[in-house]
Amino acid sequence: MTTIRLYNTRTRRKEGFAPLDPDNVRMYVCGPTVYDRAHLGNARPVVVFDVLYRLLRHVYGEGHVTYVRNFTDVDDKINARAKESGRAIGEITAETTQWFLEDMGELGALEPDYMPRATQYIPQMVAMIEDLIAKGHAYEAEGHVLFAVDSWRENYGALSGRTVDDMIAGARVEVAPYKRNPMDFVLWKPSDADQPGWDSPWGRGRPGWHIECSAMAYELLGESFDIHGGGNDLMFPHHENEIAQSCCAHPEGDFARVWMHNEMLQVEGKKMSKSLGNFFTVRDLLDQGIPGEVIRFVFLSTHYRKPMDWTAEKAIDAKARLFGFVELISMYGDLLEAMKLDPEPALIDALADDLNTHAALECVGKMNSSSDANRLARNLVFLGVYSGPELESRVNEYRQGVETLRNIVTLLQSAREKAKKNKDFSEVDRIKDILSAANVSVRMSKDDVDLRPEIDFDPAKLEALK
Ligand code: AMP
Ligand code: ZN
Repeated sequence: MTTIRLYNTRTRRKEGFAPLDPDNVRMYVCGPTVYDRAHLGNARPVVVFDVLYRLLRHVYGEGHVTYVRNFTDVDDKINARAKESGRAIGEITAETTQWFLEDMGELGALEPDYMPRATQYIPQMVAMIEDLIAKGHAYEAEGHVLFAVDSWRENYGALSGRTVDDMIAGARVEVAPYKRNPMDFVLWKPSDADQPGWDSPWGRGRPGWHIECSAMAYELLGESFDIHGGGNDLMFPHHENEIAQSCCAHPEGDFARVWMHNEMLQVEGKKMSKSLGNFFTVRDLLDQGIPGEVIRFVFLSTHYRKPMDWTAEKAIDAKARLFGFVELISMYGDLLEAMKLDPEPALIDALADDLNTHAALECVGKMNSSSDANRLARNLVFLGVYSGPELESRVNEYRQGVETLRNIVTLLQSAREKAKKNKDFSEVDRIKDILSAANVSVRMSKDDVDLRPEIDFDPAKLEALK
């Protein structure tokens, strides 16, 4: 069996991965807060952990991996959005959740096995908070419940490598007077009449953000599971707080064993931000005609632990490479045969080496001769660049286009013969204009006409010539 090696943030080294139960490999990834379209950065952890999910399913078997990714549907950013738009919270979160699934689907991300919404797990959160209070790890103050960092002081900060004293020195948060330690964080807070709230032993209120992941991970994966992932902006305080809550509530377990964090996405070398005007959503790119497979391909070209720089040039380059792949597969491949193949061992080895997607793409790039077409197809589908049906439709489109072009060659040849006689080339030019609008290259020699689909080939534009 392939040994997967993963970099564990907790131990700061690459380790051989040994699941607690190879029959049920368990992974939890922090998902989005649903109040707006996902920006391009939000898509990075989705693609990174989708690749890992595919690899785990390949190594341990499809039915032997449980992947959980939550939706945060209770949050003050959502409340603010509801207030400013005059819409109901539930309407906003339902719509945004749907958008997220559609947009990530365009990027070839498989849906996780469970996608719990925080609002569906309030009783479990309340129970966990009660348990933390009973065990002396949390306290109630002025309608809030706070986690007492001092009750777990020697362990708190281990993931991100900080001590509580360092954190206090570096903290810029306004310290609420009811906190025993400035680093204590909120498990439960009171809601006023126009904020969403649930009845609890501490009055009507709502959970803090961190407790939802601890409660849902416990409910769906148990007190110990294999992998926990998210962007590295979540390492502190979110993941540190998840660990504190879960390990104190369930000391019999060790929560997540391997912690994985993707680096951030930047745009043209700069942090993506609204104020720099380089902020865009996945949907913006799709609407601009950059297909999901191009976005995914660009993402895969950078290792997940390196900052990823999104550039327009990379997208253009990826589009050209994907067009070349589809061309090769259309000319020489047989998809039915291709899908019977196993993914390439060298590609699996690359991914098993801490998800080296860059090396995996290099491996795919070497499959460039006619006899490689089926292997190329199989591995592109394995990487999720295309789903099987997507690749099939790209290939069919290409082949039908080529078929149409064959007839147009005859049309063009006879138009040329006529033109030579009556010295009127307007019909030849008309045909050539239509071909060029459909992104077909036209090469005419003395007695030959060669038409070839190019990038952005659009067979629909050839209708006028049929
Ligand atoms: P949020 O909705 O802000 O909680 O983020 C959802 C996920 O997107 C988290 O795993 C974040 O770490 C991740 N994320 C947010 N911004 C970026 C970025 N610029 N690059 C990569 N990942 C990001
Ligand atoms: Zn989380």
